[in-house]
Amino acid sequence: MTGEPAELADAARALAEHLRFHQALGIRELPLQGEPLGGPGAALGRLEAASDGCTRCKLSQGRNTIVFGSGSPDARLMVIGEGPGEEEDRQGKPFVGRAGQLLTKMLESVGLTREEVYICNIVKCRPPGNRNPEPEEIAACAPFLAGQLAAIQPGVICALGTFAAQHLLRTREPISRLRGQMHRLGAAIVIPTFHPAFLLRNPGPSYRRQAYDDLKLIRREYDRVRGRASADA
Ligand code: URA
Repeated sequence: MTGEPAELADAARALAEHLRFHQALGIRELPLQGEPLGGPGAALGRLEAASDGCTRCKLSQGRNTIVFGSGSPDARLMVIGEGPGEEEDRQGKPFVGRAGQLLTKMLESVGLTREEVYICNIVKCRPPGNRNPEPEEIAACAPFLAGQLAAIQPGVICALGTFAAQHLLRTREPISRLRGQMHRLGAAIVIPTFHPAFLLRNPGPSYRRQAYDDLKLIRREYDRVRGRASADA
């Protein structure tokens, strides 16, 4: 950090978000000895441990596993979906079913691998029958997503589909209007695109072409933030 006012403001915002997250989980004291926050991997590990056995909403009643997230804790790009499906609930990993296979191909189409990004969902437990997550469920899970964002501090966020985009951007605008645009969220850029499950339900070149345009924009911004990070190092 160089101490520029904008960077200090970003750091203060990230710290405030981190503290709000702990507060939302009911943590009232933080150790001030040693390295209380650690690196992104340690912070994600603590968060995942805190989610263990979660009963913050009724999705806990039907789930087999909590699908916390996967990928690199040092990722500069975070991919955020809606909620786990049947296969994800079985394996405990996000986007490993049919939609996940398409997501892998979408990332690969612009030269990205799943290993270099971090993938998670708005809600960490499967909504029964793959129904849409309800507002209370999204709100109950929000501290975990806020904690993931605070730990990783991605430069670019790909929001997959309506729920992820509307939740992150605090808007009711449809995905058709949000996609393909760059939106600011703190220090990160959010670029929404169509959810791969939507693309599977709506085959045909038109939506796929738009999704590919969005992915190219994501790739461009990803390269830009990584260039900036290596210039700052
Ligand atoms: N759809 C999602 O939104 N997330 C998953 O993890 C799988 C399917």
